[in-house]
Amino acid sequence: MTIDDMRLDGNAIGGLLREIFAVEMTAAVGTCANCGAVNEVARVQVYVHAPGTVVRCPACESVLMRVVRGRGRYWVDMSGMRCLEFAEEV
Ligand SMILES: [Zn+2]
Repeated sequence: MTIDDMRLDGNAIGGLLREIFAVEMTAAVGTCANCGAVNEVARVQVYVHAPGTVVRCPACESVLMRVVRGRGRYWVDMSGMRCLEFAEEV
């Protein structure tokens, strides 16, 4: 199994992000802090078999976000994402 076999798209983390942000996030738009690419969450690269969940930029493959969940807590590292824009839930 190669790293490409393990790659999913952003729909794979729709449920996880909804738990954290409490709104639908697959249509949210993130800006990569490394290359400035702007992509919908549904289009990012997701690796769920890393330690925790790793989200990478589809343009430059830099890490945008890491999420670890355990013992009733979440740890969210968004240092690779310059901005995350999403609609408020009405
Ligand atoms: Zn990038």
